[in-house]
Amino acid sequence: MEDTKPPEYWQGVWKRVVVVGGGVAGSLLAKSLQFHADVTLIDPKDYFEIPWASLRSMVEPSFAERSVIYHRDYLTNGRIIVSKAVDIVNSQVLTADGRLIAYDYLVIATGHDDCLPQTRSERLKEYKSENEDIKASDSILIVGGGPTGVELAAEIAVDFPEKRVTLVHDGSRLLEFIGLKAANKTLEWLKSKKVEVKLQQSIDVDNISTGSKTYKTSGGETIKADCVLLCTGKQPGSAWLSETMLKGSIDGLGRLKVDENLRVKGCKNIFAIGDITDIKASYLGQKHALVVAKNVKLLLGGGKESKMSAYKPKSFQVIVSLGRNDAVAQHPLTTIIGLVPGLIKSRDLYVGKTRKQLGLDPRQVDS
Ligand SMILES: Cc1cc2nc3c(=O)[nH]c(=O)nc-3n(C[C@H](O)[C@H](O)[C@H](O)COP(=O)(O)OP(=O)(O)OC[C@H]3O[C@@H](n4cnc5c(N)ncnc54)[C@H](O)[C@@H]3O)c2cc1C
Repeated sequence: MEDTKPPEYWQGVWKRVVVVGGGVAGSLLAKSLQFHADVTLIDPKDYFEIPWASLRSMVEPSFAERSVIYHRDYLTNGRIIVSKAVDIVNSQVLTADGRLIAYDYLVIATGHDDCLPQTRSERLKEYKSENEDIKASDSILIVGGGPTGVELAAEIAVDFPEKRVTLVHDGSRLLEFIGLKAANKTLEWLKSKKVEVKLQQSIDVDNISTGSKTYKTSGGETIKADCVLLCTGKQPGSAWLSETMLKGSIDGLGRLKVDENLRVKGCKNIFAIGDITDIKASYLGQKHALVVAKNVKLLLGGGKESKMSAYKPKSFQVIVSLGRNDAVAQHPLTTIIGLVPGLIKSRDLYVGKTRKQLGLDPRQVDS
């Protein structure tokens, strides 16, 4: 049973765990440790957002009411600091608003640096406005053929079949992070929904002028679109570490090098989880969080370092949703497209499951 004594009771007795980044991995870790330590979560937003539900929220803004979750709803026994971490000095994290937060254990979970609104209500408004833009457009240009661009093209093609959707991707195939077979099946699926896919072409996103309705591709083609949606990937959230004591632990791709226990290499009390780590597999942020929660609990209880759990990367299943009913699934031995993987992911996009994992009602709409 979890002990629910208030943190003041333990002040000075409990060890301090600071979690930087309240995304997929950091939110679950903070929630898992909140009754075992004095937990502080540092995140630039007052909410956690389930990232893979964001594309559905663009075509159905009310979907975001369940997938954009106040940190305070799942972190009932921890401190939340709504600011960015900017430095680490003498076992303390410095935040952009000038606070110094001391830690005994630090967990870095700053997967991607995203420019999102600070408050949940602003985020919900943003979805409404994006949805208005989509509804008001006859033609839509999506730039980027990774999971975000593909899932967004599929959401729009299914919900608004009358709109002309063009997807431009600079790679030779879609979804480069999974197998060729899955990518080809996805391409066929998009074509069957009348999405025009242009591979090995790019759009100069730095020079898109607002109000322009004509876009030139690197191949010299002209695309007319009422609305352009950029899905070109996000930068790793490690820029803030580049002048810190951890600068030597960042690899060439901006990720933190970790050992098998998910500790930053060479650090006794600093862990890293999720997409910020140099482990070659995404979609595993929640698994990392559970391993580190176990390890930190062990150390908090005075357990031996040699008893810590190792994170063992295995081949895993990836499902990319294709609108409300279909999906493409890549398993270690096979690839399936259509209603069967769609039943697993595409209806609810794991929102109920993720809410449940955070100790929340899967159905309840936050106020
Ligand atoms: C379309 C799509 C579908 C996907 N589907 C799935 C799926 O079905 N299952 C799955 O497991 N994964 C899926 N993924 C991958 C998944 O979204 C990522 O692996 C996951 O978001 C990584 O979690 P994270 O916590 O490491 O980073 P993020 O979720 O990126 O969270 C990082 C957090 O850190 C914060 N942050 C950044 N910099 C700072 C700073 N300096 N100080 C404080 N906070 C900071 C950010 O604001 C953010 O809250 C999908 C991804 C995409 C794009």
